[in-house]
Amino acid sequence: MSQPGLSPSRRPTRVLLAEPNGFCAGVDMAIKALVWMAKIFEPPVYCYHEIVHNRFVVESFEKAGVVFVDSIDEVPEGAPVMLSAHGSAPEVLDAANHRAGVVIDAVCPLVTKIHHEVKRAAAKDFDILFVGHHGHDEAVGTLARAPGSITLVEPETGFGSFVPRNPEKVALFAQTTLGLHEWKAMEAEANGRFPNLVTARKSDLCYATTNRQDAVRAMTGECDLILVVGSVNSSNTNALVRTADVLGTPAYRIDRADGIRDEWLEGAEVVGVTAGASAPDVLVQEVLERLDPVEGWHLFSVTDEEEYFPLPPGLRKFVGALTHGVQLGLTARPDGRGPLDYDRNVTPMAALGSLRVYLGPD
Ligand code: SF4
Repeated sequence: MSQPGLSPSRRPTRVLLAEPNGFCAGVDMAIKALVWMAKIFEPPVYCYHEIVHNRFVVESFEKAGVVFVDSIDEVPEGAPVMLSAHGSAPEVLDAANHRAGVVIDAVCPLVTKIHHEVKRAAAKDFDILFVGHHGHDEAVGTLARAPGSITLVEPETGFGSFVPRNPEKVALFAQTTLGLHEWKAMEAEANGRFPNLVTARKSDLCYATTNRQDAVRAMTGECDLILVVGSVNSSNTNALVRTADVLGTPAYRIDRADGIRDEWLEGAEVVGVTAGASAPDVLVQEVLERLDPVEGWHLFSVTDEEEYFPLPPGLRKFVGALTHGVQLGLTARPDGRGPLDYDRNVTPMAALGSLRVYLGPD
């Protein structure tokens, strides 16, 4: 997309692009899974909640005929439905299994891990504190795993008047996308209040959240301003903004390049750019183009990411049938390998593009 440039006086001298930024393994898997749904089944395919919290991604799927719903009641009987990467309540899964023809759960495995922790603690009669954000899909799905034993606490308001039945039996878990500084503060307070606190060995914050925040923390020492690409309802995107803010570097969230305001760049010689885990790289490229730094942009790398999550098991069955077709010679692929063999090498944006929808602005 061609963007009107910034006025020459606002062009930064340099831009540092955080690495890693953008899509994580869970988002990668969920997007490719929904692309497969759209290819395999008669339209429309339904998706319970936004597949990932990014406006561009959701609108791209809508253009390809995917219908997003906030209630399983909106899914016509027998239609195929996908459940989002954030994880769904057991009641939602039950309702979907009852109503839909095919149900594929695209929950991220790292969210599933927390569901297991919560269920185990509840089975041992712990009072569970879950640090997360009220109303966020992931928090809603996790709270529903142990409704009688779990209390949501928000980092902004702390533990408030919470009193456990037994202070020696308290567990503390977290939404995957919290700010690390917020988690550490809550964990320290809980450790002071509840002896024998049970919590995840390495915290519940996922690798993608942690790595993107590490990069932002390191960049704050080098940048006058940080721009974070991502949508308003993306929890990990907002945590990146707060991570920079708390260290005193101004940071702003933008959906895409046209959200950059001239006044933010006043006096900003070095600008850091990053993106939340659900933001496509094409939007980051737009931002770099619009900033058009005088001395160009440079990668600011803190670590490499190799994580890969395979397609959901229920979907692999359908895609595997295509592989079988390849092996039987029903489709032409000389090496006899099928789509599952190639999944790791397919980028989510290439997969989305294969739906042949225009991925630009309206
Ligand atoms: S941000 Fe973390 S928990 Fe969420 S989908 Fe990505 S890898 Fe999974």
